[in-house]
Amino acid sequence: PSSATSVDGKAVAKTIRDEITLDVSRMKESIGVVPGLAVILVGDRKDSATYVRNKKKACESVGIKSLEVRLAEDCSEEQVLKSISCFNDDPSIHGILVQLPLPSHMDEQNILNAVSIEKDVDGFHPLNIGRLAMRGREPLFVPCTPKGCIELLHRYNVEIKGKRAVVIGRSNIVGMPAALLLQEDATVSIIHSRTKNPEEITREADIIIAAVGKPNMVRGSWIKPGAVIIDVGINPVDDPNAPRGYRLVGDVCYEEACQIASAITPVPGGVGPMTIAMLLSNTLISAKRIHNFE
Ligand code: NDP
Repeated sequence: PSSATSVDGKAVAKTIRDEITLDVSRMKESIGVVPGLAVILVGDRKDSATYVRNKKKACESVGIKSLEVRLAEDCSEEQVLKSISCFNDDPSIHGILVQLPLPSHMDEQNILNAVSIEKDVDGFHPLNIGRLAMRGREPLFVPCTPKGCIELLHRYNVEIKGKRAVVIGRSNIVGMPAALLLQEDATVSIIHSRTKNPEEITREADIIIAAVGKPNMVRGSWIKPGAVIIDVGINPVDDPNAPRGYRLVGDVCYEEACQIASAITPVPGGVGPMTIAMLLSNTLISAKRIHNFE
């Protein structure tokens, strides 16, 4: 019998998109500005193309204008930098997103550095990350996936202050929730591939954020009764019965976890939709800030 509340990221993301839709139209009516997002896609990775398509669709659904630039896999770093520079100077664009990963001949850091910090809606500019990591500093943008994780905790009224939190995974994209949890006064541990006793450490946590990329790694025995679990992992596993021959699972064994945890995000339908909602939110925040609109 499952007892945990399912943390419905899809529903929360829908609520957030509705809020954004209202704000976007209010902005358009009062100052005639439509928020604009530019997406730069280099190469022809199928997964990246799908992400970009979903982001564009999401923009349309809330009335944000989206522009896409596609560059060939073998284009030069200069070409990417040139596109970024055009969008940096374009007043109708408030957010710039370079879809990662980039082809291996490009210097990712160099490219992310080129995005104007005012338009860095992915939150990956080193200045934004730096401010996020420093006490008492405010980043202009919080990266979308970690922001989505924390937003889910907020919307489900999960208390963070004073709680023990464990973040499993330390990559730039998703390791960042640790900084956000710390800002909200949780006591945070970070687990990575060299951590000696991940199970024991995880079992102490009131809040678990898993972002590893290993299907079902976190088992029931890792979980403290009543813990809240945010599962960031999106892992395809073979399933001959599924229409495409595979299905998506998280980093946490859902069937076991939902009998022990008090709340858990499903995969899919948890963090994934929140990530895109946060991108829209960051784009709106940017347009409001640039145009001084409350
Ligand atoms: P990375 O491969 O970049 O990072 C994985 C992290 O997990 C690393 O820090 C690694 O440690 C750690 N790790 C690997 N194996 C273990 C282990 N056995 N025990 C403990 N820690 C381990 O992956 P990403 O961060 O890019 O992605 C993680 C997952 O999140 C993926 O499933 C991805 O699909 C998903 N994702 C979901 C998003 C969403 O919107 N929901 C957005 C982005 C990603 P070390 O640093 O020591 O190598």
